[in-house]
Amino acid sequence: MAKILVTGGAGYIGSITATHLVARGHEVTVADDLSRGHRHNVPPERLRVVRLQDTAELATLLSGVDAVVHFAAYIAVGESAREPELYFSNNVGGTLSLFTAMAKNGVRRLVFSSTAAVYGNPQTIPIPDDAPFDPVSPYGETKAAIERMLRQLDQFRGLRSIALRYFNACGAEPWAGLGEEHEPETHLIPLLFRAIKTGEPIKIFGDDYPTPDGTCIRDYIHVSDLAEAHVAALDHLMSGGCSGAFNVGTGSGHSVLAVMHAVERITGKKVPFTIAPRREGDAAELVADSTRLRAALQWEPRRSDLVTIIRDAWDFFNR
Ligand code: UDP
Repeated sequence: MAKILVTGGAGYIGSITATHLVARGHEVTVADDLSRGHRHNVPPERLRVVRLQDTAELATLLSGVDAVVHFAAYIAVGESAREPELYFSNNVGGTLSLFTAMAKNGVRRLVFSSTAAVYGNPQTIPIPDDAPFDPVSPYGETKAAIERMLRQLDQFRGLRSIALRYFNACGAEPWAGLGEEHEPETHLIPLLFRAIKTGEPIKIFGDDYPTPDGTCIRDYIHVSDLAEAHVAALDHLMSGGCSGAFNVGTGSGHSVLAVMHAVERITGKKVPFTIAPRREGDAAELVADSTRLRAALQWEPRRSDLVTIIRDAWDFFNR
C-alpha cells in the first residue's frame, strides 16, 4: 500500500485511475483546481481543491507521499493553438511548481500523463516509443517539454518517472458513474452519441486522407486499460524500477467511419453526419507500438475492443 497524490484526479482519466488505485488498497488524495474537472468525480473526503501553481499548498499535501500520478493539464489541441501561453503557463508552469514541491518533500516517484501528440506527424506506423518528438501543437509541445525535464530530473534529482503517452482514450466506467464529460466536447465517440441524441449531424473531418476509406485512423484505448497502465507503472516505481516512457495503445487502428458504423451497430441507431473539411493538425494515421510497455510492465489491454468501448461509453452517456 502506498500513499499517492493524484493531480487532476477530478478529470476523466484521472478520476478513473484514482478509483483503480483505491481498489488496489492505495491511500489516494486528489489535488484538482476543478477548472476542467468535476467535483462529482471524487468522493469529498479524498478531494483537495488546489491550483498546481500554488507550490506551498502542494508541498503541504505532499508530506509523506510515496508517489505522484500527474494528470492535471489542459488537453484541447485546438484551444492550445489559439492560446499557447495559457497552455505553457498551465501545463508546463503548473508542472514545474509540482516538481518544486516534490523536491522540497523528497518525493521521488512520478507517473506522468503524456500523449501521442509529442510525435506530431510520425514517419513510422505503428509508432515506436523511440520515435523523435516533433509536436505540431502547443499542447503536444507542453508534454514533450515536461518529458524532457523528467530526463534531467532523473539524473539530477533522482526522480524516477514513467511517462505514459496516451493514444485515443475512450470508453467509461458506467458502474462507477465515471466517463467523459468535456465541455466543449471535441472527441469522436461522445460527439457521435450527441449526433444521435440531437439529430444534429456530426462533421466528419475529411474523407480524402490516404487511408482505405479516406477517413483518419486512430488507436482507441479503453480508459480502464489506460488506468491499469498507471497502476502497473506505479507498481514498477514502488519496487525500485527505473524511469521510462511508453506508448499506451492497442496497436490496431480504426477509421472514423469504422467507429461510426460500430456505434450504429451497438446502439441500433443511425448517426446523422456530413463530410466536412479536414481539421487542422490531424495526422492521417496514429497507431501505437506498445510492445515495450507490454514487456516492461506486463500490461495488456483487456477492454479496448470497439464493442466494449462503445457499450461502456453509451451506458455512461445514457446514465
Ligand atoms: N473527428 C471527426 N469529427 C469530430 C471529432 C473528431 O471526424 O467531430 C475525427 C478526428 O478528425 C480524428 C478522430 O475523429 O480523426 C478522433 O478525433 P478525437 O478528437 O476524438 O481525438 P484525437 O485523435 O484528435 O486525439
